[in-house]
Order: sequence, then C-alpha cells, then structure tokens
Amino acid sequence: SPSIVWFRDDLRLADNPALRAAVERGEPVIAVYVLDEESPEFRSLGGAARWWLHHSLVSLRDRVIERGGAFVLRRGAAASAIAELVAQTGAGAVFWNRRYGGPQRDVDTQIKTSLREGGVEVRSFAASLLFEPWTVRTGGGTHFSVFTPFWRACLALPAPRAPLPEPRELRGPTRVPASDELDRWSLLPSRPDWAAGLRETWEPGEPAARARLRSFLREDLRGYDTTRDEPAAGNTSLLSPRLRWGELSPFTVWHAATEHEGAGRFLSEIGWREFAWHTLFHFPQLATRNLRPEFDAFPWPRLQPTHLAAWQRGETGIPLVDAGMRELWHTGFMHNRVRMVTASFLIKNLLVDWRRGEEWFWDTLVDADDAANSFNWQWVAGSGADAAPYFRVFNPELQAKKFDRDGHYIREWARDAPTEPIVDLGETRKAALAAYEQMRRAR
Ligand code: FAD
Repeated sequence: SPSIVWFRDDLRLADNPALRAAVERGEPVIAVYVLDEESPEFRSLGGAARWWLHHSLVSLRDRVIERGGAFVLRRGAAASAIAELVAQTGAGAVFWNRRYGGPQRDVDTQIKTSLREGGVEVRSFAASLLFEPWTVRTGGGTHFSVFTPFWRACLALPAPRAPLPEPRELRGPTRVPASDELDRWSLLPSRPDWAAGLRETWEPGEPAARARLRSFLREDLRGYDTTRDEPAAGNTSLLSPRLRWGELSPFTVWHAATEHEGAGRFLSEIGWREFAWHTLFHFPQLATRNLRPEFDAFPWPRLQPTHLAAWQRGETGIPLVDAGMRELWHTGFMHNRVRMVTASFLIKNLLVDWRRGEEWFWDTLVDADDAANSFNWQWVAGSGADAAPYFRVFNPELQAKKFDRDGHYIREWARDAPTEPIVDLGETRKAALAAYEQMRRAR
C-alpha cells in the first residue's frame, strides 16, 4: 500500500523527514500538494505568494517525477482532499512535516485522528523550525516574550540535527491518481500581468534556493555584520522566501552557516524567525489581535484612504518610504531596514492601524508568512512581543542619511517619486505620541 507524502510549506526534496520516512517504508510514494482555501480560518494567499507557489510547485513536481515518483495536486479542504486520496489509492501511510499556525494545527490533528481510526499510519516530523515551540521554556515553565533570553535558551538546547540527504530515487505507484492541472488554479496573474518584476528578480524552486545559500555564504556573509542594515549593500541572504516556502530547511541553512566564521549575527536573524513562530504558536491570532491588549484602546483616527493609497503606491513624498514601497511592488521584496521605516511611517506618521499595512505586505511580499509578517508589524507598532517602544518613531529622513548615505537605494527605486511630502513628519509624530498618551491614560 503506497505512502502519501503531504507537502505543505516544505517544497523540497532535501532535508525532508516526511519524504525520507516514506522512502524508508519501502512502498510506492505519492507526493501531494493541496491548495486549501476552504478549511476554517485559513487565510487566502496573497498575490505575490500565489505567484511564488506556482513556480515552486512546477519545480518540485518536475524533480519528483524525474526521480520516478508520482506528484498529485488537489484543491479543497485538506481533510476531505487527503481522505479522498487515501481512499482512491489504498494508501497505508500518510506522512507530513509539522505546521505551527493555530488553524493548521487543528486541521492536522483532525486528519491524524480520523486516518488513524481508519487504520492508516500517520506520522508528522519536525522540519520547518530548528526548535519545536513547546520545547523552549522559561525557568518558570512559560513561553518567552523577549527575544534575547529566548534565543539563549534555544542555544542551550541540543544542537539542531544534521540535514538529511535528498533521496536519489522515488518509486511511484503503477497507477498514478488523478491530479488537478496547476494552470487551472490560476495562481499567476493574467490581466493585468503585474509579475514581470518578480520574474526578473526570482527563480523559485529548490535548486535556485541552494545556489543562493552557497553564494551568500561564499560572497556576502563576510560583510553581513557591518552592512546588513544598508539596503543598497545587497548583502543580506535573500533567503526569506526560500525559508517561507521550505525550499530550504532551517537545518540546512544552520549547518551550512555554522561552518563559516562570524555567522553568529546571521544565525540570530534565523533566531528571530524562530521567535516569530514561537510567538504565533502561543498566540495564534497574531495577524488580527494586539498581542499587548492595552493597544486595543489605541485611538486610531478614521482611515484616510488617500493616505493609505499613497503609501501603497510609493507616492508619499518621503524618498526612503517611496523607494521601499516601489521595491516591494516591483520585486515582491523589501529590505528589512526599509520594511521597518515604511511600517513606522504608516503607523506613526499616517496613523493607520498596523493591520492595514500587514494586509498590504501579505498581498505583495513573496516571503509573507503567518508568523513573521504579523509579528514584525506588531513589533513596529509597539503592540507585539519584545516590541520597539511606541514612542520610538523612526525619522525616515535621518534613516536615509544613516543607511543610504550615498542615496543609491533611493535613486534606484524612487527617482521619479513626488517630492512634496503628504504629511509633516514633525506634526504627525506629535499627533502619534498624543494618541499613545491617550491610550495609556485609558488603561
Ligand atoms: P537576512 O538578513 O539574510 O536574514 C536571514 C533570515 O532570517 C531571513 O531570510 C528570515 O527568514 C529571517 N529573519 C530575518 N529578520 C527577521 C525578522 N525580523 N523576523 C523574522 N525572521 C527574520 N520576514 C519574512 O520572512 N516574512 C514576512 O512576511 C516578513 N514581514 C515583515 C514585515 C515587517 C513590517 C518587517 C519590519 C519585517 C518583516 N520580515 C518578514 C522580516 C525581515 O524583514 C525579512 O525576513 C528579511 O528582510 C528578509 O531578507 P533576507 O532573507 O535577506 O534576510
């Protein structure tokens, strides 16, 4: 009886413990991906994410088939899609790598229980995080809400396991079950086709992900500590979409990086990714609810749609903000420092609720994920875990002077942007601090 490997946010063959277990079981292997937009509380993917998913699935499908395996696409609520595939193939086992979001865990538990009741072997594996969230605990047994002690506790745990090699051969069943056609899922934009910039910038898929990891470690890691905050330096890893889609596992990244000297700073950024997922695991509503409930009383003024639209289009008249928003629109990516500045500008100069910004990033980032996006928006807003204090309002002009000294980044992205700011930075900063005071008094 065949083994089903259910791929989710782990679109890779290397270091894939679920796939490895299926190969070791010795029966034919069926790889399946389910596009699930129906399970309760599942968030639909954003546009840029759908683009990435399409191409990454093409790459994975080709690689599975090249090795002799079967690759099946299904659409619908995962519980029924998987149950149906098991019934159609007579599969005796279903294996997957764990997910950590609340609604996803609920679905996985439900599927595990009902398949096991039907006599199917079900096993799940740790593959997407270096440290399982429930294993990282404070001395008092609670979860961490501050990064530094969190990461110290992680590093005191047994070191992350070595990555598993990629299976060279996969044996599919004699009768391959029916599959959806990927093109029918319409993951790519058509009219208008806004993805030209994404195509210029990225090559999704595991082989390109591995190549980028190698070139980053060889060429860029050395300057990472000193210039990682400079958007024009171009020496951060650009691995965030690779990790988001699981084209690379964090174990692979970890072990490759620790072979190089001076990787500590880079690894601590991987630590922030772990911390974001840790936080989401313990607070599944991170995308919609303030982690710190006192922020529920924040007096957001009525939304000014023209302000939000100017921010989205990179037409605020603030050069670093406009450069960032245009980079995002064109490439599906934005440098971390600029993400912080653009987010701070939206929240604290335009006084727009962080959730509106989170939604825009969700739709436009190729690396948007359930944990990191909302975690970081709440970090900037001051309402999140180990967050920047609210009164720390980035001044985008000083940020540009400091981190884009020669103006390369702004020239590259915002050459033809408007030059008249839509708001006064000083006045809006004062208004934001007054709103914050009002919230504090309301407690
Ligand atoms: P590097 O500097 O090379 O870092 C290596 C890896 O560490 C990254 O690939 C990423 O996986 C992880 N990482 C680094 N910084 C963070 C961080 N602050 N939080 C979590 N993980 C981190 N990152 C996402 O992966 N998805 C998102 O949806 C996302 N949304 C963000 C929204 C805002 C408002 C802000 C301020 C940051 C957001 N980030 C998000 C974090 C960060 O900006 C990106 O991970 C980083 O810019 C990716 O570039 P890189 O791979 O070159 O990073």
